[in-house]
Amino acid sequence: MDEPTPLTAEDFASDQTVKWCPGCGDYSVLKQVQSVLPTLGLRREEIVFVSGIGCSSRFPYYMNTYGMHSIHGRAPAVATGLKTTRPELSVWVITGDGDGLSIGGNHLIHLFRRNSDVNVLLFNNEIYGLTKGQLSPTSRPGLHTQSSPLGSVSKPFNAAGLALGAGAGFVARTLDRNPKHLREVLRQAHRHPGTSFVEIYQNCPVFNDGAFKAFTDKQTQATHALYAEMGKPLRFGEKSERGIRLEGLRPQVVSITDCTADELWIHDSRDKVKAQLLAQYFEDESELPQVFGVLYKEERPTYEALIAEQRRQVMAQRGTGKLDDLLRGTDGWTVT
Ligand code: SF4
Ligand code: MG
Repeated sequence: MDEPTPLTAEDFASDQTVKWCPGCGDYSVLKQVQSVLPTLGLRREEIVFVSGIGCSSRFPYYMNTYGMHSIHGRAPAVATGLKTTRPELSVWVITGDGDGLSIGGNHLIHLFRRNSDVNVLLFNNEIYGLTKGQLSPTSRPGLHTQSSPLGSVSKPFNAAGLALGAGAGFVARTLDRNPKHLREVLRQAHRHPGTSFVEIYQNCPVFNDGAFKAFTDKQTQATHALYAEMGKPLRFGEKSERGIRLEGLRPQVVSITDCTADELWIHDSRDKVKAQLLAQYFEDESELPQVFGVLYKEERPTYEALIAEQRRQVMAQRGTGKLDDLLRGTDGWTVT
């Protein structure tokens, strides 16, 4: 029998015209997802993209896979139901900072604690794009928007920190403008058996241009972005001349000439306390860089595996039963 022809990125692109604004970071994420999928050994009919509402939620239209453009903020609930009943499918949630953290914040945190084997890609552009530029839960203090003309006064969510706090077993942060890093994070998210949360800093050139410029601009990226790799010291700078050392739980920037290699913080993505530090701490500390990479990885049973096991045990005790008997129940009554 002939071997099936290997799929390419083009095989995963649908015939729909992509309708995002010119220069939108969403194009890069779409391209990287379409590039990575052929390397995962899946057939198109085994993959489902579920989205909510927002610019990024147009994503399923552009994929030549199964997909569902669901309701605002509810993609995690739809994906959990799908994965529970069809665990053999590769299920991906596409959401944004508004869809995933505001309208759908509740659904997202419950996906994390349940641990369905679903990959969540959260396009974080720190703004509502589709509705023309209002504050989102990740907008930074002082940001002038349609709904905060005098500047935002609210503290934003740290999406990665929120996911860790809600029990996500895989938490990563990456950028639209670092395609290689994004592809590697996507591969790791797919491999992780449980909910994988990938926060993607995504530039919205129309309503919040340059929000992540410090991490992508050639002049500043080396000193503002640190790429954490498992088992390696946290280092950054033009020539990797700076590192992070922990004083108790307090990170300090050091010159690597001023300390020995084993004094530096070695990234261990199994350590949840340190993952919280990586996700949260750096944001308020101007001297410290923002951290990208897989911050945390922990394997535990998935929701669908636990449900299947529970069902198997109950059926072993009580048999398969009949739907009609189930619907009638055992404690019905007659109204006279
Ligand atoms: Fe992209 Fe912003 Fe346009 Fe939405 S509004 S498509 S996020 S550039
Ligand atoms: Mg947004």
